[in-house]
Amino acid sequence: MRKITHIAVHCTATQQKTTSIASLKAHWSALGWKKPGYHYVVMPSGKVEQLLDESQVSNGVQGYNSCLINVAYVGGIDNNGKAVDNRTEAQKAALYFLLEQLRFRYPQAVIQGHRDFSPDLNQDGKITSNEFIKQCPCFDARAEYRNI
Ligand SMILES: [Zn+2]
Repeated sequence: MRKITHIAVHCTATQQKTTSIASLKAHWSALGWKKPGYHYVVMPSGKVEQLLDESQVSNGVQGYNSCLINVAYVGGIDNNGKAVDNRTEAQKAALYFLLEQLRFRYPQAVIQGHRDFSPDLNQDGKITSNEFIKQCPCFDARAEYRNI
């Protein structure tokens, strides 16, 4: 097995009503990706879809993927395409349970959001909102999952 240093939490940044696993795969294949963006995708219903074996490398965070498990919830933008945390209660519960399972398999891995991989521009040891290269996953995953 690969060495997993982080479990990265994402949003798909797509509309919840119209996103399917097929539409995600079509998007990635249009980008020329041979592997999915995430190992797991949590649908608005709370259903968890596994797209890739954990031993394989997915395409979630450029430059870090070889050491990551990438998980995403479907959503993260409003009707105007603006970043928003619109996780359903079912998604929140399913995501939490999925991360608990991953924590069991990778006890050393840090759970954080995609945005927490942004460069620490002022090198104060914290990635603050002015340093985010993206909003993904649109909530503070480090804080929300710190007890997992
Ligand atoms: Zn992301």
